[in-house]
Amino acid sequence: MKNNTITIPKHKRIALVAHDHKKDDLLEWAKFNREILSHHHLYATGTTGWLIENELGLYVTKMQSGPLGGDQQLGAKIAEGEIDMLVFFWDPLDAQPHDPDVKALLRIAVVWNIPTASNRSTADFLISTPLMDGEYQRRLTDYEEYRQRLNRRYGEVTLLQETAA
Ligand code: PGA
Repeated sequence: MKNNTITIPKHKRIALVAHDHKKDDLLEWAKFNREILSHHHLYATGTTGWLIENELGLYVTKMQSGPLGGDQQLGAKIAEGEIDMLVFFWDPLDAQPHDPDVKALLRIAVVWNIPTASNRSTADFLISTPLMDGEYQRRLTDYEEYRQRLNRRYGEVTLLQETAA
């Protein structure tokens, strides 16, 4: 597979998500980094977004609450190229009703090579990198070969049918 890139712009679209026992951690981190975050566009699952708006006074584009589909909405935005970074403080000590959605969001962030922080220290490293202040070429796997696999298979079927006729 070939590689290509997508530009992560200077003004980034950052998705923020925290499970209930991690919301205080995320809020504290977001407050500490309020000035930096204010230069970017924030997205979040419903409750996390509501808390950030209220505590930080920053506008947040809010999805549904996570268990009601918010994680999937963020995942869809990543696949559409509308999210540049994910800070997702998920809870390693508590079962989630929407565990498949959590896995799906983390998976799709890897598929599209989105910088992702799952804990405070990674989020600290991420937000303090000089790359936050400029553009970054996000390297993508070229999935064209994967997309073409069914075409190839159907092409073969057509060919077989033609041969049999
Ligand atoms: P919430 O969702 O921000 O609506 O609580 C977070 C999650 O559990 O995905």
